[in-house]
Amino acid sequence: MDRAVRLVVMPDASTATKLSSMERYRFKRALEDIEHAEGRGTELVSVYVPPDRPIFEVTNYLRGEYSQSSNIKSTSTRKHVMQAIESIINRLKQWRMPPPNGLVCFVGHKDIGADQTSMVAYVLEPPEPVASFLYRCDSRFYTEPLHEMLAEKDVYGLIVIDRNEATLGVLRGKRIETIKNLESLVPGKHRMGGQSARRFERLIELAAHEFYVKVADIATEAFLNRRELKGLLIGGPGYTKDYFVKEEYLHHELQKKVLETFDTGYTNENGLRELVEKARDLLVGLDLMREKSLVQRLMDEIRKEDGGLATYGEAQVRHALVVGAVDTLLVSEGLRKLRLKVRCANGHEEERTVADEATLPKCPTCGAEYTILEKRDIVDEFSGLADRTNAKVELISADSDEGQTLMKGFAGIAAILRYRVT
Ligand code: ZN
Repeated sequence: MDRAVRLVVMPDASTATKLSSMERYRFKRALEDIEHAEGRGTELVSVYVPPDRPIFEVTNYLRGEYSQSSNIKSTSTRKHVMQAIESIINRLKQWRMPPPNGLVCFVGHKDIGADQTSMVAYVLEPPEPVASFLYRCDSRFYTEPLHEMLAEKDVYGLIVIDRNEATLGVLRGKRIETIKNLESLVPGKHRMGGQSARRFERLIELAAHEFYVKVADIATEAFLNRRELKGLLIGGPGYTKDYFVKEEYLHHELQKKVLETFDTGYTNENGLRELVEKARDLLVGLDLMREKSLVQRLMDEIRKEDGGLATYGEAQVRHALVVGAVDTLLVSEGLRKLRLKVRCANGHEEERTVADEATLPKCPTCGAEYTILEKRDIVDEFSGLADRTNAKVELISADSDEGQTLMKGFAGIAAILRYRVT
């Protein structure tokens, strides 16, 4: 079986670096499948073609690899590698030059258990240009460069600080990562015997100063060489954070990137979360914030006594989409379900949603087994329905709190409505 998937994830050039969430989702799903594949020998072929490489050069190279592979000892590996290379050569025929970002091909026989293999073939137009030509034959497909391309590009540096403690972190897309937590040696209120109040005061100031310098040094190390750093957010419970900024402890390049300071109750990891929360309005463009407010809007509607302009659950949302009542469709990226069109031996046809094809029940009417006529990822099905009535589609990441709410509370699908559906 030769299952070919061709993904075009490259939007027009003006938005080249910013994939829509749907494109990102499709790309990620394809990657999941690709990475899942395992060869029985070193027989999975990955080819990366940069945009400026004429296809005939690639084809010539592959022909060379093809003759080389005739030396492979194992009969089945040899056969599989040669088939994979042949398949790639055939697929590349439709181009003379690669598309604007180049091409990535993954072709090979993957192990499907019970001594069986199945041929898979993916040809992708990546979201960013392929940097250099690469041919690899291994027991797994080589996907690392694609992960690099998919990495979230908006990064913010986070610092929460007071006299006793500071924590540095980064906000990358939706995730908050802690870089370092440190405690100061600034003496507490109780001075040692024999010290004058004044001398003690000076000691405190000195120790505090040294602490701020240290925090700034760590910030330099963590943030200065990050080109993708969009800005710095500084938080803390008291005056220290403002003093830290005003006295320009930070490296001058970082000082320029300070966006704003915010009051937070904590200076530990919780403080980082508080800081991001407080910076909400500021970061409104960030996906994290967009997702947060969307799910918040959904919850606000649902809490209304009359049920509000919201609906959730697969059947209800599908109905609302079909009648054109959906303003914004919220789908969890964590949703892994298939929408199947099935028919039993006695001709009973039905549509079913399943988590896994293997769990497909028998026909309730006659008890016969179903045959699958059509299969779609449910996220694709729903976004298709949404497109027909110009409903907005928002994919909500599975790892945020809001994503968890959507996934656990509403089975991964909900909608904000244009009008109420009965
Ligand atoms: Zn039946």
